[in-house]
Formats: sequence, C-alpha cells, structure tokens
Amino acid sequence: MIHQEYDVIIVGGGHAGSEAAAAAANMGSSVLLITMNMQTIAQMSCNPAMGGVAKGQIVREIDALGGYSGIVADKSRVQFRMLNKSKGPAMWSPRSQNDRMLFAQEWRTMLENTPNVDFWQDMGKEIIVENGKAVGVKTGLGIEVRSKSVILTNGTFLNGIIHVGMKQLGGGRMGERASTGLTAQLEGLGFSSARMKTGTPPRLDGRSLNYSKMEEQEGDEQPEQFSFLPLDLPENQLSCHIAYTNENVHDKLREGFSESPMFNGAIEGIGPRYCPSIEDKINRFAERNRHQLFVEPEGWHTHEIYLNGFSTSLPEHIQYEAIQLIPGFENAKLFRPGYAIEYDFFQPTQLFSSLETKLVQNLFFAGQINGTTGYEEAAAQGIIAGINAHLKVNQKEAFILKRSEAYIGVLIDDLVNKGTDEPYRMFTSRAEYRITLRQDSTDVRLTPISHALGLASDDRMKQVEKKKENIKKVTKVLRKQSISPEEVNTSLSKLNSSTLTQKVKADSLVTRPELSIEFLREHSVAVNEQLTPYSEKEIEAAEILLKYDGYLQKERDLVEKMEKLEAVKLGKKLNYKEVRALSSEAQEKLTNIQPATLGQASRISGVSPADISVLMIQLNEN
Ligand code: FAD
Repeated sequence: MIHQEYDVIIVGGGHAGSEAAAAAANMGSSVLLITMNMQTIAQMSCNPAMGGVAKGQIVREIDALGGYSGIVADKSRVQFRMLNKSKGPAMWSPRSQNDRMLFAQEWRTMLENTPNVDFWQDMGKEIIVENGKAVGVKTGLGIEVRSKSVILTNGTFLNGIIHVGMKQLGGGRMGERASTGLTAQLEGLGFSSARMKTGTPPRLDGRSLNYSKMEEQEGDEQPEQFSFLPLDLPENQLSCHIAYTNENVHDKLREGFSESPMFNGAIEGIGPRYCPSIEDKINRFAERNRHQLFVEPEGWHTHEIYLNGFSTSLPEHIQYEAIQLIPGFENAKLFRPGYAIEYDFFQPTQLFSSLETKLVQNLFFAGQINGTTGYEEAAAQGIIAGINAHLKVNQKEAFILKRSEAYIGVLIDDLVNKGTDEPYRMFTSRAEYRITLRQDSTDVRLTPISHALGLASDDRMKQVEKKKENIKKVTKVLRKQSISPEEVNTSLSKLNSSTLTQKVKADSLVTRPELSIEFLREHSVAVNEQLTPYSEKEIEAAEILLKYDGYLQKERDLVEKMEKLEAVKLGKKLNYKEVRALSSEAQEKLTNIQPATLGQASRISGVSPADISVLMIQLNEN
C-alpha cells in the first residue's frame, strides 16, 4: 500500500499533521500519514482542553475552513464555557474541557473515514531531496516512499529530552520515543535549528482529593459548540475546581530548586513565558503568597485529574510532598509526575507564508516544529500547510489568509516575518483587527473562502448564506420598528438610561451599552413578534454589528490603508544589499525573508517606516 507515490506525505500525526492530512485529502490529494504511534494520533500532550482566549477563535476558524479540530473538541468535551462573556464580544472566547482519550479516538475515527488518507506507523528519518525538491521520505524501517510534497509536523519530538529533577530521558513525550535524524539532515541542507522547552504538571487520582475544600467551576448552562455544523452532543458536563498553593507549598518546592533542571543549567531551551512552571512562578513572583490552580477532569471514564497551573520538572518526591500541602490535596495520590521537555525547532522565518520552506521546494513545516506552543496554533498551521501542499502539487497559487481575515493569518504572518525567540502563543492583543476577527462571525468570514477552495460543502455554504441573510433581516426589523416612550421609559429610568421624549427606531436603543435586543423583545410586542423566526445566534450577531459599527468601520478603514501597501509587489525585483539607504538590519532581514509585498516588508521586525519609504522611492525609480 505505501509503495505507491503520494501527492502529500505528512510526517507526524499530532494536531498539525492530522489537520494537514484532512485538508489535503479532502481537496483531493492522495495522502500518507507517517506517524510513530497510531495509538496517539492527535494526542493532547498537556492539558485536556481546547480553545480559550484567542485560541478558541482559532478553533472556530479551523472549523469554518473545513478542518476537524472543532468537531472533535465538541464530540469529546466534558465541559464548555464561553470565556470573557462580561467583556466586549472581541474577547468572548470558547473553551472546552475534553476527554483526553475520546479526543484522540474521535480524531482517528474521522481521519480513517476520510477518503484518500493512508497511514503508516514508523519514524520519518530522512526527506528525499532531488534537485532542490522534496520527493519523498525514508523511514526508520528503511522504506522509501515517494511523493510530490512533504509536510513535517514533528511537534516536541525532534531530539526530545525529558527532564524530571536530575533525571533525563530521551523522548518526545513521556513514554514515547524521540525523533532522531531529521534535524541533522535539515541542518545539512542549510536550515538552522534551536532548542525550546515546555513542561506539564503531574496527574493525580481524583478519588484522593477533597473537593469540599475547593471552589467548583461548572460549565455554561447553555453550552455552545465550536463547530458551526449541527452536532448531537451530550448534555451532561463535568465540573472543574479551583485550588490555591500557599507559602508551605512554596517552601517545599524551594527545597528542590538545587535539583531543578530549570535552575541548574540542565535545560538550555527557552520556555513559554505565558505558561511558566510552578517553580518559575515562585521564583519570578516571590512576593505572591499563593497561585491559583485549576483541578481539571481528564475524561468521563477515568479518575485522573490534570493539575493546571502546577507544571513542574522538580524531582518527583518534591512534587508529591508539595502537592500534599495544598488544601484539599492532603491525601493526594499521583498517577504521573510532571516533567519538562526540550526539543528542536526551526526558526519560522525560513518559511514562506504558505509554510513551504524557502530552502527546499515542496517541503512544508507546520506546528510546534515552527516554534509555536498549543494544539490550536499547531492545528491552524496544519490545515494551511495541507491546503498549500495540495495547491502546490497542482501548480496553483498559494493560499494565504490575511491578518484582517483570521487569527490564523496573524499567526502565520507573525511567524514568517518576525520569527520567535520563545514558544509563540496566540493572544487577542496580537491581532490589530480583533473586533472583525470575533469568534461569532468566523463562519460568515471564512466559509466562502473554504467553499472556493473546495473544502466547505455546498450545504454548508448555503447555511452561511442563510445566516447572513437572516442577520440582515433582523437589522432591518430594528431599523424600521419604532419604540414609544410608554413602552420603555419606566425600565430605562431603572437602568439609569436616558428616557425617551418621542418615538425612536429600535436600532438606536440597541447601540446604548446598557441595552440589548433582548430588552427590546421584552418591552415591544412588535419587535418580539418580528424576531421570533430568527435564531439566538443570528440575533446576537445583529446586535454585535449594531453596537460595534463604529469600531468595525475604523478597522475596515485601516485594512484599506494597509491593502494599498499589500498591493505593491516586491517579488525578487530588489537586491536589498544594494539599496544603500536601507539600514543594515533592514538589508539583512529583507534579504532573508524576501517579503512578497511592501505590506509584508512593513511587518518584519527591524524594518522601520523609514526603510519602507526608501523601498517606495526605489520601486518608483525602477
Ligand atoms: P505534537 O502534538 O507533538 O505531535 C507530533 C506527532 O508527530 C506525534 O504524534 C509524534 O509521534 C509524531 N512524530 C514526531 N516525529 C516523527 C517522525 N520523525 N516520524 C513519524 N512521526 C513523528 N502547549 C501549550 O499550549 N501549553 C502547555 O502548557 C503545553 N505544555 C506541554 C507540555 C509537554 C510535556 C508537551 C509534550 C507539550 C506541551 N504543549 C503545551 C505543547 C502541545 O502539546 C503542542 O503545542 C501541540 O501538541 C503541538 O502539536 P504538533 O502537531 O505540532 O505536535
């Protein structure tokens, strides 16, 4: 079976590799997924959760593009919450707590049911490169499989080293082998690699915990889902709990600092600043006498608990003793120790925006191999690499999402233009158009794009068109329907909102921060009746558009301005080293990154507005 030639070979069946396989196959490519362990396809290496701030938006984008992460997260969820509901809608972020085993199982089922995907359990040892092009993969078993393109998605496995106190083990995750050979080959081809580090907390036996000493955190009463497709989901949810460390816990942890690979120089890789280990938190924020912990269930059919916030690589006996000093954890039993892992990554400035490498044609990198952290960031790159590998082998133009279209656009644009010195994690603050990139509108923004690519079905497209149409109809009702002072004035006074002296159109009341469409439905029979045919989501979307109209217009103006720079193509027209007026840093960065447009050049760190003016003058002269 694997001796045929494939369109796309993917090395690594993690979050990036699985999305890449699904995308390329669904577009019609023949795909071979080579992964070291078929039991751990799309395994959640760390927390059993998907989404969260900015990451939840990414999961919805993947779903709207036709990827599987959203569906799998929904089907395997044990809890769902919309985070930041008290803030503006740009910050609303879906998050699910997941059944770890079910998540991997659902992914595998979906991939096995995807036509055009073959599987092979083995280690990808070497990329076959001929005439500067990737044309296949050699495996650990010595098999050579030919292909038109290759996507590497090795995650934390490249020369991975696991640390628990002074103990070091080779491995890509606890209990799994590291991947060897590829880094050395890629370096031989001219790629540069470096080391990063990440860590995970210990897992506990939930039966040994006293939850009465913790604060319960339930899921939403009316849980939403990531996917825009209708799914039949379980109504039950499991609770998480909140606990806190204290000075005694910190003192116990400090006893292990001399044996900490973080502090004694054993770990050289750079760790995620926004996901620090507990020892790092105690060290960096010495003034704080407690740190919050989330006690998260690992699934429906296990007692295993994930102790979010207690990531550590201290010796296991210190982990154990410190945990027992947390209120509610006095009798805690550990299932698995926390650990840190160091691995190789490749600076993503070595990639084009399509995620194809600049050095070897038809070779793509996606996921943690590019210096990112998180399942969502990995899956997002996977779907883009899968789409682009398919397009490349069919001699079609690359698919690049703009920063104004999706968080995925921001992610990849940041990576290929700025590179990263520490594990890159997505935040809403990285996006300049975050009101446009809201999670609720992802399907409206991206489904037409994925439909054009051949990923979203006609049915799905029709569903989105209907939603768009209905949002317009809701807005129209509110623009037309008048509200009289008698209907609302008593309630307006109670809310300290100015009362009406004459009839006004309903939409003008919706723009008041303290009012909502729900308020109007409660006070106006006419509004309520006319809105009855529409879904809650359609009404919510119309309300957001009315309330944030001014901000959205500002973002559209900014996009227009930037698009003028995007329209100026640079290609390979300029030899930057010869443009004397450029700063030497700009010369070097522009030469390395080879931006496709002036817009892209303006986002490269080290390229100043003055350098952009120089380039504009130079282009006019040419
Ligand atoms: P992975 O999920 O790592 O998948 C890689 C896959 O490729 C695996 O299936 C592996 O078997 C396979 N593979 C690798 N090399 C080869 C090869 N040569 N041949 C064949 N198959 C191969 N993220 C966070 O956001 N926050 C955290 O706190 C956090 N902590 C983490 C702690 C640990 C200990 C680990 C291991 C990871 C942690 N992560 C964390 C990272 C998160 O797991 C990754 O970001 C995410 O899984 C990356 O997805 P990926 O698809 O790039 O790679």
